[in-house]
Amino acid sequence: MRSFTYQRATSATEAVSSAAHHPDAKFIAGGTNLLDLMKLEIETPQHLIDVNGLAFDTITPTSDGGLRVGALVRNTDLAAATEVRRDYAVLSKALLAGASGQLRNKATTAGNLLQRTRCAYFYDTNQPCNKRRPGTGCAAIGGVSRQQAIIGVSSSCIASHPSDMAVAMRALGASVETLNANGQVRTFALDNLYLAPGDTPHLENTLLPGELITAVILPKPVGGKHIYYKVRDRASYAFALVSVAAIVQPDMTGQVALGGVAYKPWRNEMAEALLPQGSGPMAARLLADAQPTAQNAFKVKLAQRTIGLALAQASS
Ligand code: SF4
Repeated sequence: MRSFTYQRATSATEAVSSAAHHPDAKFIAGGTNLLDLMKLEIETPQHLIDVNGLAFDTITPTSDGGLRVGALVRNTDLAAATEVRRDYAVLSKALLAGASGQLRNKATTAGNLLQRTRCAYFYDTNQPCNKRRPGTGCAAIGGVSRQQAIIGVSSSCIASHPSDMAVAMRALGASVETLNANGQVRTFALDNLYLAPGDTPHLENTLLPGELITAVILPKPVGGKHIYYKVRDRASYAFALVSVAAIVQPDMTGQVALGGVAYKPWRNEMAEALLPQGSGPMAARLLADAQPTAQNAFKVKLAQRTIGLALAQASS
């Protein structure tokens, strides 16, 4: 691990101001992904700004009946919160399907959103990887690609986003709240947090330099049945091959997002309009732009069937 300087921020303003003065700084909270990446020298921040002391660890109601989840709320606490289990059960289920109990105790809401891909080649510094080192190539294209994305891929990168939590948040229509170095607060749809890989897969999100996620805003609950199915190679402590977050109403309208298939949670409101016609037309539309490799073409069928399973349970 390379040497770095360390600072415990005592306020959000201090944190973003420090980030503005240290171009190679990183915020750290749970550190469950960042520390691994630093040990491998994939991430080499010169300055770490510890934000654990900031007052972003609460879950509070919003004025319009939604919920404001502080960026530092631990995954365990979010999954167990009474209002989340009652009104946003898909989120609680997705959180509990992710990682391990120990990791969920440390991992934060913002860190979960910003965790980096688990593409094995990204973590193997002997392999070419455009995301880790731009311009070196992509070992996954033509390599082992069973776990990789099938939608939104490019000729530079086919990595998938590993989060379960983000998939449920996308189905719920969540927004992200941030603070930048000028003290400006910005709120935008979670879908707009992530950048498609294109020719620049090392650029993964739309946050400005030094911009800090302060909260995730969940809209007013919509009721319905909340389902999260995660299909993976072993029963626990594994990333999704495919996951489905679904919120389905009695008239079979609803919201559906997929995990494990793209660089971000994959949702298409136009496809959801087909939900009352059944899972087949909806899934076909949602996966219409899939460009799988020979090794992960099975994900198309797997996603269709997992959506079908979720909707069957919703209508039972
Ligand atoms: Fe790197 Fe992306 Fe290729 Fe994986 S898929 S090796 S992360 S460029």
